[in-house]
Amino acid sequence: DSLRAALRKIAGASYIDEALIKEIVRDIQRALIQADVNVQLALAITKNLQHRALNETPPPGMSPRENVVRIIYEELVKILGQAREVPLQKQRILLVGLYGQGKTTTAGKLGKYFQKKGLSVGLVAADVHRPAAYDQLKQLSEQVNVAFYGEPGEKDAVKIAKHGVKALEASDVLIVDTSGRHALEPDLIKEIESVAKAVEANERLLVLDATTGQNGLAQAEVFSREAGVTGLILTKLDGSAKGGVAIAVADRLGVPIQFVGVGEAVEDLAPFEPAAYVEWLLTD
Ligand code: GDP
Repeated sequence: DSLRAALRKIAGASYIDEALIKEIVRDIQRALIQADVNVQLALAITKNLQHRALNETPPPGMSPRENVVRIIYEELVKILGQAREVPLQKQRILLVGLYGQGKTTTAGKLGKYFQKKGLSVGLVAADVHRPAAYDQLKQLSEQVNVAFYGEPGEKDAVKIAKHGVKALEASDVLIVDTSGRHALEPDLIKEIESVAKAVEANERLLVLDATTGQNGLAQAEVFSREAGVTGLILTKLDGSAKGGVAIAVADRLGVPIQFVGVGEAVEDLAPFEPAAYVEWLLTD
């Protein structure tokens, strides 16, 4: 919201002068720091922004106003880094995250995504704490028509994971749903470690609800530190939340955002595109 307010100032100004540029740069700096972006980074970005906005002549055909907007946009995309290609190869993906973030739904969506790319997929139900997760994942596997393994009633996630790897050996992409909690407790960390080891996971993707706002950053930091997260999936971006936390998360964690969830249906998943995301973030 603060970033969009800064852009509205540019749109509403009768002309662009140094005073306005300095004001906008201060607004953006404040917005980034409020959003928990590292202070050093926020300062570096805004310094760069100010220098460019004051010194770069607009490309042919571009007004000074459009030029400033273009520079702001480019500097924000820089924080998010390059889009990381999702490898289309044999791999094992572990999904981790707290309750209700969209982990199980995302497992089904990923199944559909890789299947559409021509890879065979197997889903493993290793969430042993939420009893309904087994049925939910089984139904999703039937809906997207991919292989499934689970043991209803079994409380040992590692056992299920080991059996699942064996049963679904033929699948190119193995996606393992793990237990959630209301907080990342020590026993959950241990379980994630053991399951990751048992399945020899290539990726540990944290599923994060974009509507949790800045809480999401604290959550992501703990998961990253304690559970060795290698990437993020930001869910529920179809609501009113723009998931501005993504900027701080990308900055602080140094792990890429791989996918975004944009709805409840199995096809509502897309690879994360930093440039498209910033454009959308800045649009009213
Ligand atoms: P889990 O506890 O992390 O496994 O969470 P679930 O997969 O059961 O999802 C919790 C709720 O969020 C369900 O009602 C899902 O339909 C919903 N959900 C998951 N991803 C998305 C998304 O991208 N957009 C929307 N609108 N809802 C989502």
